[in-house]
Amino acid sequence: MDYNQEYSPAESGHAEGASPQAEFPPLQLAGTVEDSIVDGPGIRYTIFVQGCPHRCPGCHNPQTHEFSGGYTADTEQLLEAIRSNPLLGGVTFSGGEPFCQPEALCALGREIKAMGKHLMVYSGYTYERLLEIGRKRPAVLELLELADLLVDGPYREEERDLTLLYRGSANQRVIDLKKTREHGTVVLYQDDYCQGLW
Ligand code: SF4
Repeated sequence: MDYNQEYSPAESGHAEGASPQAEFPPLQLAGTVEDSIVDGPGIRYTIFVQGCPHRCPGCHNPQTHEFSGGYTADTEQLLEAIRSNPLLGGVTFSGGEPFCQPEALCALGREIKAMGKHLMVYSGYTYERLLEIGRKRPAVLELLELADLLVDGPYREEERDLTLLYRGSANQRVIDLKKTREHGTVVLYQDDYCQGLW
């Protein structure tokens, strides 16, 4: 779901001699970016998961598609990297498809929210489809509960628009999940309304 970034698996990958923490479910990643300014508001730690079923034509991250690729994250190491950077305003789960690993990302997301960080999640599924999937996989709903913002929907090449905030095609929405929960209907992130101004 990232459109212009490079991955750095070595930065947050499994350190030599260390092993992923047993209390966290396994999380398969494609890479991380430690100080992104394009994956949500402010300075963010972006986590790119490995594996995506959507295969959107024109996807800029085809290397994240295979579920058998990537590397197993050391979740404690990820959390320490986030915790130790006071400039970080938030964390973004991108991909790949984050909602294919909702249990592992919920475990991570709970810790991130406990730090008081903003949490944004990308998905190739629409919000409405995620609610349906969540009926059978509760972690999907929990991840939606934990997150502050959701960028939803597949990337559509024919609707590509480089002026859009945090997304690549016009069908995708930046959803304010807190307000959506409060109102019981989809509420778009406020900055969406300023798109014509800059
Ligand atoms: S949802 Fe689409 S754009 Fe995002 S990673 Fe998957 S194939 Fe690429």
